[in-house]
Amino acid sequence: MTSITKKEFIYNLEKTVHHVDKHYFNDKITTHPNLKKLKVEWSNKMKICAGNVCVYKDGKAIIRLSKPILNKQPSIDILRILIHEMIHLILILDQNDNTHGTNFLNYINLFSEKYKIKVPIKHNFRTIDRKYHWICTKCDFRISYLTKRRPPKKHLSNGDTCHGPCIRKLN
Ligand SMILES: [Zn+2]
Ligand SMILES: [Zn+2]
Repeated sequence: MTSITKKEFIYNLEKTVHHVDKHYFNDKITTHPNLKKLKVEWSNKMKICAGNVCVYKDGKAIIRLSKPILNKQPSIDILRILIHEMIHLILILDQNDNTHGTNFLNYINLFSEKYKIKVPIKHNFRTIDRKYHWICTKCDFRISYLTKRRPPKKHLSNGDTCHGPCIRKLN
């Protein structure tokens, strides 16, 4: 994936998908006989799921990536989510399997072993590794962020508001 820049990722998703298909799926997705047309787009509305894929009866498919969640993430995280959705897509096209079952896990393992890419298993963006962890010095409040940002000045602790300072915790 070295030949694709972050900018291309963001602005040319179609190209990215072809690139990913070629590199990791032997072009099997974009040339799949059960696929008529593949659209990829950013969604401004997706706030919980980082990505999803829909395959329609007429053979059209659409992959959506959440702009609010992925916008500020490094391209490797966007790639991981995109691959997740593309695995769903090929499994749906191949065998109508839209689960995170054995077939899905086989792909996850393949990506991990062959390409050293950790593809998240669930859609929920909490499963993306959050890198910025904070812990309250007074209570047990913990919060993690994907991006570098400060923790809230106050938080709930056993039903009470705690103003204890949060310190950055590494890992
Ligand atoms: Zn999934
Ligand atoms: Zn606290």
